[in-house]
Amino acid sequence: MENAVLRLRIRQKLQDGRLPLNGISRIWGGPPAGEHCDACDRLITEPLVIEGIASLVAGRQSVQMHVECFAIWDDERQAGASSITDARSSSPCHDSREAP
Ligand SMILES: [Zn+2]
Repeated sequence: MENAVLRLRIRQKLQDGRLPLNGISRIWGGPPAGEHCDACDRLITEPLVIEGIASLVAGRQSVQMHVECFAIWDDERQAGASSITDARSSSPCHDSREAP
């Protein structure tokens, strides 16, 4: 999955509440046991899965993510905490290859 697509998906999940916006109070890593990543919805087959318990108003939510997805989630939630409603402000100028 492309990084930009993944980032967008994570951002959407942050907006609709499927991923916690607040920090995760407990995080640990371990071998996967057939979990699906909460960020990209794919089966986690990497040797290490990031697991955590997020504290929500409604209770607790356990999350499992790829290491890569976790890094993007953490990045997005910090960026999104201040500008999550302003999706237009983010126009990354990374290598957008121009189609011929
Ligand atoms: Zn993932």
